Amino acid sequence: MSRRSAQGVDDLFAKASSAWKEQGSRMTSVRKILCQEAFATTGPFGPEDLLTKARSIDKLISPATVYRTLAQLVQLGLLREVAGPRNQRLFLVLDSPTAGISHVLCSDCGQMIPLADPCLHLREGALARQQGFSPTKISLQVEARCDEWREKGSCPRRRADQDAP
Ligand SMILES: [Zn+2]
Repeated sequence: MSRRSAQGVDDLFAKASSAWKEQGSRMTSVRKILCQEAFATTGPFGPEDLLTKARSIDKLISPATVYRTLAQLVQLGLLREVAGPRNQRLFLVLDSPTAGISHVLCSDCGQMIPLADPCLHLREGALARQQGFSPTKISLQVEARCDEWREKGSCPRRRADQDAP
């Protein structure tokens, strides 16, 4: 999985710190580990992925803490929660207004692949505004089969734990 630049991680980290401070809370050492690991991730990740990474740094971090922190980061507008394959909960870092808005959900690969689509926001947002609404969240999910998997029987995106289709 690719990682975000150190500068990008620092910017997100600063946003989280100041948002918690505004709420009268603070960046604890556990939150710090979870934020650093989550913000470094560029693709969608599950709570278990984050727990595994965080536990390699502090093995006492609990799943409950991971879920609670993820929910807080969604609330702070730094992460977006999306439904992945088999309805698993996945999270994406919201480093731009259009991050995670549209994605392909492949039933063959068992992957959620983000699409960079800045137009969706403009187009669908404008249509909603014409009807007198202020959009708060726009998303598009493309459910798909994988061409490469179907033709060659293999695909580098395919998750190892994916059952045969
Ligand atoms: Zn595939």
